[in-house]
Amino acid sequence: CGIVGYVGYRDALGIVVDALRRMEYRGYDSAGVAILDGTGGLTVERKAGRLANLEAELAESGAAVFAGSTGMGHTRWATHGAPTDRNAHPHRDLSGKVAVVHNGIIENFAPLRRELEEAGVELRSDTDTEVTVHLVARAYAVGPTAGDFAASALSVLRRLEGAFTLVFTHADHPDQIVAARRSTPLVVGVGRGEMFIASDVTAFIEHTRDAIELGQDQAVVITADGYRVTDFAGSEAGARTRPFTIDW
Ligand code: GLU
Repeated sequence: CGIVGYVGYRDALGIVVDALRRMEYRGYDSAGVAILDGTGGLTVERKAGRLANLEAELAESGAAVFAGSTGMGHTRWATHGAPTDRNAHPHRDLSGKVAVVHNGIIENFAPLRRELEEAGVELRSDTDTEVTVHLVARAYAVGPTAGDFAASALSVLRRLEGAFTLVFTHADHPDQIVAARRSTPLVVGVGRGEMFIASDVTAFIEHTRDAIELGQDQAVVITADGYRVTDFAGSEAGARTRPFTIDW
């Protein structure tokens, strides 16, 4: 129900958890975070119930486990799959390197799930969301988009039906986050040496007031120093955005 992503130079975990707290008013049944350590590691923590439950888990693991300046967070309002730990976002691919958070509904998840199962992928949650992360991992592994994280994500977005704000991270590409939207909100927060993405400007209002609203069926790749908005075909030409200043 709330999404935030951060790429920059500061401690991502603190920024992500603060942002989730500021979006608590939206209501949710579970919460989770993924932090990239910058050297190929990706650590996930997720927990059913209040944000306090997640924070207790994080405290138990210790801050050192979550050191990194790229990360994302999610609060879930379950539509497919019970509000349990294993259905909480982020979801990961089998290698544990690719992660996704999602708000909305992937309407065609059933055929995509069958396709993955036929290919030998064992899904580990009951969500409509999880298929997307395995599909991105497979597109990254073989075929025309192999080795290209953003192109792999776009190729999967083109196959999805429904309403979604989706955010993907890849442990081997810790300098970037790929996000996209259809029929649900997604805003980019433009900082200095740091970039944010969120479902709601309240997530990053304390860090920057320069924002960009993504249009329908647009994707964005953010890095610490910039952003690139395209349509799902990867073209910048058709991707109009609306920059604005948050006037609070
Ligand atoms: N449909 C997804 C799920 O049930 C995402 C729900 C949400 O928007 O939080 O896991």
